[in-house]
Amino acid sequence: FGQLQRQDPELARILLDEVERARAGLQLIASENFTSPAVLAALGSTLSNKYAEGYPGKRYYGGCEVVDRAERLAIERARALFGAEHANVQPHSGASANLAAYAALLQPGDTMLAMALPHGGHLTHGSKVNFSGRWFDVAAYGVRRDTELIDYDEVRDLALRHRPKVIVCGATAYPRLIDYGVLRGIADEVGAWLLADAAHPIGLMAGRAVPSAVPYADVVTFTTHKSLRGPRGGGILCTAELAARIDRAVFPFIQGGPLMHAVAAKAVAFGEALRPEFADYARQVVANAQALCRSLAAEGMRPVSGGTDTHLALIDLRDLAISGAEAERRCAAAGITLNRNAIPYDPEPAAVTSGIRVGTPCVTTQGLGPQEMAEIGTLVARAIRKPEAVEDVQARVAALLSIHQPYLSED
Ligand code: PLP
Repeated sequence: FGQLQRQDPELARILLDEVERARAGLQLIASENFTSPAVLAALGSTLSNKYAEGYPGKRYYGGCEVVDRAERLAIERARALFGAEHANVQPHSGASANLAAYAALLQPGDTMLAMALPHGGHLTHGSKVNFSGRWFDVAAYGVRRDTELIDYDEVRDLALRHRPKVIVCGATAYPRLIDYGVLRGIADEVGAWLLADAAHPIGLMAGRAVPSAVPYADVVTFTTHKSLRGPRGGGILCTAELAARIDRAVFPFIQGGPLMHAVAAKAVAFGEALRPEFADYARQVVANAQALCRSLAAEGMRPVSGGTDTHLALIDLRDLAISGAEAERRCAAAGITLNRNAIPYDPEPAAVTSGIRVGTPCVTTQGLGPQEMAEIGTLVARAIRKPEAVEDVQARVAALLSIHQPYLSED
């Protein structure tokens, strides 16, 4: 870093400012985490220099014998971690992993069935503004109005009516467990592939804090930077039957050279997740989300579906008569970073919303526990309800963080 500071102080300042920003506030974005210094070291390595189109042992460039070892390690660790028959660790992101999975299973114009974006699905699950909505014929299921849980009867009805080639499950803002067994049964009934997008809960699956999708789904796509606490990137797990199709879909169909520094960093993260401490972390993430949820509920902020089984909660703010956008702004002013989020059947437009999403992967990595979660719930409520008390909340956030800061050491 000293070298960067001497050569390009302007950019070095930006990097330091970002560390400061993350340290100065509470990070409650459900899709973020703080990687270990070891993951950052691999990301900043010379493996970034190497072209390695292809797969270990079958490259289209010379000099790949060293990076082959990194990719083999990442693949073996991913397979061991998730008990998967095959792993592809090259997707640059979660969206790329989904693009590759669709490319392996679908042709343009084919039908897929996925969770609607306003009910918690992801853009890549068939939104009109995304390639998935443009290139495929999409039928969408949602959650029930009364329980706010996935309506499996509706999934089955839609599957029987539309006969999709792929059923996609997984979400970006669904706080509850997904019943992969039921979805497997529906997929079998209509002869569809089952694709589980586990971008959010993959770290919880790795730590056995929630049931794994791997035994049920034909293909599991994921991101490595959320609950898994690895580098920004994606990955795909699949059955041996689909291995060659998935690999060809990633390269050469949608990507060129893999980011070998990111592949190496994924190997580091999988290695960390294989340690017993990671299971403790994953369980703590869920326990913290539940404690935060209880505290918010006690403050009159209704958790969608009544609670959470995962790392995130979706909070309905309509009783407070404050929009998600305004709540996001007020929390930011108080040093609490979270995001506005549509709630199911949200009467407000997507840019405004009636809800916020909170997640605990970052604060759990920092070592905060259920007691602190109870306080954070109070602080979130106070920041939203009493913007005039912003300095008081800022001071309490700073006190909480003074003993729980990420990236304090020099390593
Ligand atoms: N799938 C789901 C369910 C997600 O929540 C996300 C990201 O939030 C993605 C895919 C896309 O991941 P990325 O942002 O790495 O493309």
